[in-house]
Amino acid sequence: MSKNSIRNLAIVLGDQLNRDSALFDSFDTDRDAVWMGEVDEESTHVWTHKARIALFLSAMRHFRDDLRDEGIRVEYTQLDDSRNVGTLAGELQRAIERLNPERLTIVLPGEWRVKQAIEKVAEYSDVSLETLVDRHFYSTPDEFAKHAKGRKQLRLEFFYRELRKKHNVLMTEGKPEGGEWNYDADNRGTFGKQGPGNFPSPVAFRADDTTSAVIALVNARFSSHPGKLDRFDWPVTVKQARRALTDFIEQRLTKFGEYQDAMWTDEPWLYHSRISSSLNLKLLDPREVVAAAEQAYRDGAAPLNAVEGFIRQVLGWREYVRGIYWHYMPEYIDRNTLGATAPLPDFYWTGETDMHCLRQAIGQTLDYGYAHHIQRLMVTGLFALLLGVDPKAVHEWYLAVYVDAVEWVELPNTLGMSQFADNGVMASKPYCASGNYISKMSNYCKGCRYKPKQATGDEACPLTTLYWDFLARNEKSLKGNNRMAMQLKNLARKDTGELQLIREQAKAIHDRFA
Ligand code: FAD
Ligand code: SF4
Repeated sequence: MSKNSIRNLAIVLGDQLNRDSALFDSFDTDRDAVWMGEVDEESTHVWTHKARIALFLSAMRHFRDDLRDEGIRVEYTQLDDSRNVGTLAGELQRAIERLNPERLTIVLPGEWRVKQAIEKVAEYSDVSLETLVDRHFYSTPDEFAKHAKGRKQLRLEFFYRELRKKHNVLMTEGKPEGGEWNYDADNRGTFGKQGPGNFPSPVAFRADDTTSAVIALVNARFSSHPGKLDRFDWPVTVKQARRALTDFIEQRLTKFGEYQDAMWTDEPWLYHSRISSSLNLKLLDPREVVAAAEQAYRDGAAPLNAVEGFIRQVLGWREYVRGIYWHYMPEYIDRNTLGATAPLPDFYWTGETDMHCLRQAIGQTLDYGYAHHIQRLMVTGLFALLLGVDPKAVHEWYLAVYVDAVEWVELPNTLGMSQFADNGVMASKPYCASGNYISKMSNYCKGCRYKPKQATGDEACPLTTLYWDFLARNEKSLKGNNRMAMQLKNLARKDTGELQLIREQAKAIHDRFA
């Protein structure tokens, strides 16, 4: 292929490292080329954790090298290329001017902003752009739109059941395996006083030359960014991602269900799979993940509550939140139902706080770029919700600090599920709770200077104080919500004097973080 005779320039973004993608269906190695670009903008539009930057860059470089080994021409700009203009749009523009392709092809990006930027470049350059379906997912935005049509509420449960039936997952003769769709009632276990005991550590991946070079680059170029790289061990290739999946299925799936909501001091992984970043970069196919979990059940190696609970996350939540994202974007990102305006406290970027639960969840986030679901929802998310932090600031933090963060999955989880800012699209009620919930699900409170049961006084747990204050502040807007009835009834039991003290103490907390 001569340099200037490219038919299709196939754009591969950092979260599209999928050799089975529709992009390659009619790819002709004689006439087509792949374009990939590393740009500063993708690490700076939110103040990105070093581990997230390193993971994306290393996985991209491995993917590039594998394509080249297959004889595919890859036009690739590295971050440290002196001509790199620093934005995706700018780099793509430069490539189009240099290569003069007849056409651009791309799979639907994972972020509205990126989709817009690429469409604008194509229009400006007067090159046609074909956007292909992302076959990595079970469902498409169109399928979700059909599901949504005529429904007043878009709850996970119904979409999940449709997908289970359609793809024949955990079904027997047209019925859900075991007779129930949902085994969540068995999945709220805690570790009790004795703690989690011994459990297998997840498989870790040592940095090869490519990853080591990326780590050095990130440490030098993004030294002021949050997080550390000395414990970086995430899968960066398909082979590693599959090993991580097998390790989870064999070692931890059996207890995933029972302990999926539990937390414990200095134990970041517990029985979680650690495969979200591999899924989101498309190193792992969700069908492979779901099939492996179902097989473990069919083989008698894992119980139904664990397997259904896990499949519900991958086939259910993951597909559902993507449906919500594309259904409601672009206006979704600006929603702020509760009118929350407080700034995000600085300690979210440092972990320096005397609240032990937050110190743990944020500390491990900075160490690894990881926290499990309940830590995100019921510790960091909960505190921001109760404090009334601007949901956009909360969104930008989650997008920045987790290795698995891509906007299609992060935004509905943050804005909708965790901050109740989307007018009840994702959640039927706010996930609001006092410190007592954290005390029940973890041992964090044992190592804390505060007392979870106390709402006022020197030792009052700030989450408990803020919980009552949150209910009081939002009482009017939450009153019509049946699912809040019990919590509001408890609020009504507080006498005026106690409530006044709580509000004064809450104001002091607000002032501290303003
Ligand atoms: P496990 O607990 O082992 O779960 C298995 C898999 O199920 C995950 O790998 C993931 O692919 C999927 N999954 C589980 N819960 C969800 C969910 N609520 N939505 C979509 N998929 C789910 N997940 C992301 O992948 N990227 C994000 O940016 C992200 N941001 C979040 C922000 C907030 C505020 C909250 C509350 C949740 C967020 N989640 C996000 C969902 C969930 O917390 C992570 O998927 C999970 O913690 C990843 O760890 P794991 O691979 O060990 O998951
Ligand atoms: Fe967190 Fe409150 Fe428990 Fe301390 S007492 S760990 S602040 S919930």
